Amino acid sequence: MIFNEKHELIRQLAREFAEKELGPIAEEIDQTGIFPMELYRKMGEIGFLGVFVPREYGGAGADHRSYAIIMEELAKVSGVSTIWMSSPNSLHSTSILRFGTEEQKEKYLKPMVSGEKVFNFSLTEPGAGSDAASIMSTAEADGDTYVINGRKTFITAAPVSDYAILYAKTNPEKGVKGISCFIFDMNLPGVSVGKPERKMGMIGCPTSDLVLDNVRVHKSAMIGKEGEGFINAMKSLSIGRLGVACQALGLSEAAMKEAVKYSKQRVQFGKPLSSFQHTRFTLAEMETKITAMKHLVNDAAYKMDQGLDTNKESSMAKLFNSEEAKWVVDKALQIHGGYGYTKDYPIERIYRDVRAASIYEGTSEVQRMVIASKILN
Ligand SMILES: Cc1cc2nc3c(=O)[nH]c(=O)nc-3n(C[C@H](O)[C@H](O)[C@H](O)COP(=O)(O)OP(=O)(O)OC[C@H]3O[C@@H](n4cnc5c(N)ncnc54)[C@H](O)[C@@H]3O)c2cc1C
Repeated sequence: MIFNEKHELIRQLAREFAEKELGPIAEEIDQTGIFPMELYRKMGEIGFLGVFVPREYGGAGADHRSYAIIMEELAKVSGVSTIWMSSPNSLHSTSILRFGTEEQKEKYLKPMVSGEKVFNFSLTEPGAGSDAASIMSTAEADGDTYVINGRKTFITAAPVSDYAILYAKTNPEKGVKGISCFIFDMNLPGVSVGKPERKMGMIGCPTSDLVLDNVRVHKSAMIGKEGEGFINAMKSLSIGRLGVACQALGLSEAAMKEAVKYSKQRVQFGKPLSSFQHTRFTLAEMETKITAMKHLVNDAAYKMDQGLDTNKESSMAKLFNSEEAKWVVDKALQIHGGYGYTKDYPIERIYRDVRAASIYEGTSEVQRMVIASKILN
């Protein structure tokens, strides 16, 4: 068994939190676009924002399996809550934990995992999405400082962040080996954010451009060494992809629950939908795909806990889960008929939320590239 009693207790805690704290407001978050920051801090207090960050830096000191369990349980109730949860656990803390100095760990990890401060992960640019190595933002050395210029796009939580973890080229002529990572205060002169994007789903976590106009940071703002930025970003994304796979799994389970409930209630041709063979076979296939999703997530999380290289496993879990989740959620909506196409049923929100999973943190096509390169290496 890859899970122990502790994992089951964590699942219970996460499920209770999701049902009590998120369930009653999930719809309201989707309608207003506002995720209550008190709730974010509450997630920090119970350890959800730094699941595997060591206790000395304020984290829960738990493992990746625990992280996967909590993400799945939260996604069953509110998709967007898992963006808030996964970001500090993966994209924000990984670079600092792996490459940061002791001073950076002390300064940033505690406020990050307590939810007191919000961070962002700034890699994507208008001309550099899947081809992240082609970013154009630059960080030019000037004495004890770097001067950063460029434009980032689609940056999660940028409008409400306190700090940016940003990738820029310190040596553009070195290509991928010329990218470095910086962490700095969003209040520095020259930092500005664009208008939040009007997204189709995952409403309640603003995404916007981030503009850097001669932003001067001290050399100590660099995370890791010059030129290590790309490896740093890829390590962060590897853990991030496990999170997206869990998100897709939880959303699929939520869709399944709704489909089962509706199919038992809705009567046509004198019988509940659940009595028709087509509905039953669809539910059976949905359940089978969900179970396969669980196995991929568990395999990746377990191997991460063994300290193994899991780039391939994370990418496989993200690829399969995000693609199959779209199928599962679509079928669940179909079972709802016209009612599924209205905002009166949760399946409509789940359908919009799940669509992002095969796009962010590397599209499905990018996951296929990662998996193939691991196979052919
Ligand atoms: C809600 C949301 C939140 C996000 N948050 C962040 C964030 O916090 N930080 C951040 O840095 N980024 C973030 N992103 C950006 C995200 O990572 C990118 O959108 C993603 O990597 C794809 O880049 P792109 O949109 O430029 O698409 P493109 O790279 O232009 O791709 C367009 C299409 O072409 C395909 N494609 C590209 N190259 C190939 C190829 N060689 N072979 C086959 N097909 C290919 C892609 O798979 C895709 O289907 C976010 C995006 C969204 C939607």
